Amino acid sequence: MKKLMAANWKMFKTHEEGVATAHELVQLVSGRLPDDREMLVIPPFTLLHGVGQVLAGHKGMLLGGENFYPADQGAFTGEICPDQLLDLGCTFALAGHSERRHILGETDDFVGRKVAFGLEKGLAVILCIGETIEERRQGRVEEVLFRQLDKGLSGVTRAVDPDRMVVAYEPVWAIGTGEVAGPEEIIQAHGVVRSRLVNLLGETGNNIRILYGGSVKPDNCASILALDNVDGVLVGGASLKAESFSRIVLA
Ligand code: PEP
Repeated sequence: MKKLMAANWKMFKTHEEGVATAHELVQLVSGRLPDDREMLVIPPFTLLHGVGQVLAGHKGMLLGGENFYPADQGAFTGEICPDQLLDLGCTFALAGHSERRHILGETDDFVGRKVAFGLEKGLAVILCIGETIEERRQGRVEEVLFRQLDKGLSGVTRAVDPDRMVVAYEPVWAIGTGEVAGPEEIIQAHGVVRSRLVNLLGETGNNIRILYGGSVKPDNCASILALDNVDGVLVGGASLKAESFSRIVLA
């Protein structure tokens, strides 16, 4: 299983800044990326074309979208469809990032529709899940992860290509806070996710990558990657600078 090292640039960077960062990243990572690793850059939509052109042709360097709407096309002002992402060279897209769930009100059911639709259209989809600090304090981590997985994967079958289905465990309290989950918390949550994936999808569930996200930095990445059932990372803040993201990618 190849480790997936993903950068989520969120709503940062002008076109010029994004292209410059991508060039720098390629310079720092090119020729050093092990065969068992993939680097995925997920920039805002306005940068997909420019960043895609820089990454194109570099082995193991992939492009993804931060979001998409589950329809072929149509009157959905402000939205973007899977075909438009594929058209610009995206192979991956996020679904259900916590900022979309909590700021924009995306529900588990809607996220599930996106996952199924994105897969059907040919994207690889990263389903993001994770509990809030209140849910953790109430001892509800497992319940929340089960619900988000069950609904998020409701349209996914055992026949899914495991290379095109990824789950990112991102505890909401660790995103952008500098507070990384401890090793025991990560092992526990990833174990819960793995066993639910196997319950839902049989043997296929063992081959689906589970990423950790939440304040990953160059100096904590290697130890997180070494934990059971951690098959990559999803990085926000520390992915914005090529120098720090390249150190994460090569950690
Ligand atoms: C994220 O946006 O998915 C994320 C994990 O952000 P950060 O690395 O900044 O916590």
